[in-house]
Amino acid sequence: MLSSTSTVSVLGKRNTSNAITNKQLTVATEDVLLLVQKLQSSLELEVIFTHLLDHIRSLVPGCRLLYSLPESNINLPIGGPVLKHQCFYQLKAEQEQLGEIRISNSSKLTDYELSMVELCLSHLLYPLRNALLYREAIRNARQDALTGVGNRFAFSRNFEREQRLAQRYHQDLSLLVIDIDYFKRINDKYGHLAGDEVLKSVAECLKSVMRQTDMIFRYGGEEFTAILTKTDREGALVIAERIRKEVEKLTVTISGNDIKATVSVGIGSLKEAKDSQALFNQADDNLYLAKRGGRNQVR
Ligand code: GH3
Ligand code: MG
Ligand code: MG
Repeated sequence: MLSSTSTVSVLGKRNTSNAITNKQLTVATEDVLLLVQKLQSSLELEVIFTHLLDHIRSLVPGCRLLYSLPESNINLPIGGPVLKHQCFYQLKAEQEQLGEIRISNSSKLTDYELSMVELCLSHLLYPLRNALLYREAIRNARQDALTGVGNRFAFSRNFEREQRLAQRYHQDLSLLVIDIDYFKRINDKYGHLAGDEVLKSVAECLKSVMRQTDMIFRYGGEEFTAILTKTDREGALVIAERIRKEVEKLTVTISGNDIKATVSVGIGSLKEAKDSQALFNQADDNLYLAKRGGRNQVR
């Protein structure tokens, strides 16, 4: 529901100082109601900030906006790079830090313009908080909590999409299914927590070899998958061997114990499979062959 009144906290800095705290702003103009409506129309940060900048630009033509929230790796310039004259605001709603917004312009903003900017920002806080919560929820739904790589849900979504794209554009696509060898023994010997650390280290190792964090997934347990776009079987073999060798070099030290691990890898490539299920089965069958062949190998 739309509310024409809101109480917000905008901790502001005009260039360097003059903090404005806990301003109570009552807003009634049609323009601002329209802005509120627009800010509430999306949960995408970029859309929200574009609406906000459009509105601010009707007051300060040509100005630009930079939103940043370092702890979430967000640095979002809207309207172009930062200009010479800047005012910035720490955004905060109910004790929650929502990042910093920087409005920049080629000439210094007047006091009137600054107060209008602050008025606009006061309506940003709750839509922004909702968008950040949404972003976090989406990330959690797609990410494996232990290792930080994509989870099985994210894998299915990406795999289907990449397979369709590859077939439509007649491009290569390969899949790796990577399974830690004798992982149960690691758990049995060093404990489940140590096993978790090994899982994390192997995931880090996969990320560093692949350099494409978003295409590595924890399929389940001690099994990972990697989607290799525009890569045929030969290319996949090179990457899989690199993964195998890097994991082999890995030593995870926990409570004075140096734990070693190896992986077996099965490759599937789209040229030899008709759909995503066949591609997955092919990689899985090859993983089975690698296990049967003695483990710590690629098939
Ligand atoms: P193989 O070489 O044939 O793959 O043998 P393995 O021992 O790795 O395979 P198996 O399927 O027998 O055992 C997998 C083990 O992985 C059993 C399970 O307890 C462990 N595991 C699965 N998920 C987790 C987890 O999140 N943390 C820890 N520490 N262990 C896990
Ligand atoms: Mg295993
Ligand atoms: Mg397994």
